[in-house]
Formats: sequence, structure tokens, C-alpha cells
Amino acid sequence: MARYTGAVCKLCRREGIKLFLKGERCNTDKCAFEKKGYIPGQHGLTRRRRDSNYAMQLREKQKIKRMYGVFEKQFKRYYEKAAREQGVTGTNLMQLLECRLDNVVYRLGFAASRKMARQLVRHGHFRVNGKKVNIPSYLVSSGDEIQVKDKSKKLAGVHESMKRVHGEHSLPWLVLDKANLVGVFVQIPEREQMGVDVNEQLVVELYSK
Ligand code: SF4
Repeated sequence: MARYTGAVCKLCRREGIKLFLKGERCNTDKCAFEKKGYIPGQHGLTRRRRDSNYAMQLREKQKIKRMYGVFEKQFKRYYEKAAREQGVTGTNLMQLLECRLDNVVYRLGFAASRKMARQLVRHGHFRVNGKKVNIPSYLVSSGDEIQVKDKSKKLAGVHESMKRVHGEHSLPWLVLDKANLVGVFVQIPEREQMGVDVNEQLVVELYSK
């Protein structure tokens, strides 16, 4: 499977937003975006951002893809599914991305980044409703229980990540039993609950051309 192997902090600087791709580092003063939040490259400081409609739509798409770690083909498929469903296409698209198992694992706090969550899922460390699932793009449904496998409960990475979760889980669509490393995806989140600073409508405009 294709994967991006370049410097991920450059992606944040390119998109002009923190994409939180490096786990704990993103919340510290080591974050490259905090230190130099301009476009990477020799002329980054002086370069003007393109602001044609098309450029803005394209950038917004890249931003969302990079944030959720989804490649073009799969992203297009999500868009097509979102467009077929009832409701607002942009919201449907964001909800589909939020339902991905790797995202839910990250949101629950079992992994410090979506990338790490993807790797943990691929390595088979999670069960959904008691069944092993090792597909990061698996779409979780309301009421599904996501659990760290018994054999994986001692994983240092999971415990390190869980240290970031203090007390009650702060996301209203998830319930976490921290002691037993079990989470429940209570319902699909509303768009305003996601706290994702992107304009998905621009993506809808891009694909609708
Ligand atoms: Fe982006 Fe995280 Fe790197 Fe900061 S540390 S630039 S948020 S990937």
C-alpha cells in the first residue's frame, strides 16, 4: 500500500494548520508549526499563498486527507458515498472519516496519533464487538465496542497514550473505560462536535465540478 514517507511536519506548514500527525510532540513547543509556521522551501517566508477558488478547494481537500491519513482514491470513494447518502454531503464526508476504526482508536486515546492508531489496528491489537479487526478503514457503527485485545493490554505505546486521557473522556460521542481499555462509539458525532478546523464544503465544490 502506498504511504507518505516524507517529513510530516512539512505537511502542517504546507497546509497552514496543525494536522497533529506526530502524537505527543504536536502539543509541545517542539512542534515545527509553532516554531516556523510558514510554507516550507527556500521562498517559504515570502511566498504568497495562491488564493484562486480552485487552489483553496484543492488545499482544503489535501488538508482533510492528510489529517485523516487517507489517499486520493479512497477519499474520492468516501466523497461518492457521502454524496449518495441523505443530508449534507460535506457533513456526511466528515462523519465517514470519523467512523474509521483508526480514527476512533486515536480519538479514544489508545494511540497518540492517527498514524500510530493505523499501525496498531493493522497489527491486530483491537477487537470490535469481540471480533478481531485489523482494517484501519473499517467503519465503526453506533453502539460498537472497541477493545484492546487481552494480549495487547501491556503494550507500552497504548499506556503512554492513555496517560494523556485524564478523568472522563471529553468527546461526547465516545465512552471510555480506561481501566479495561474498552471504548464505546455511542453515536456518529455531529459536525460541530468534531473540533476539526476545515471547510469541507470546498471539497464538495471541487468534486462537483
Ligand atoms: Fe504538525 Fe505535529 Fe509536526 Fe506540529 S509536531 S508540525 S502539529 S506534525
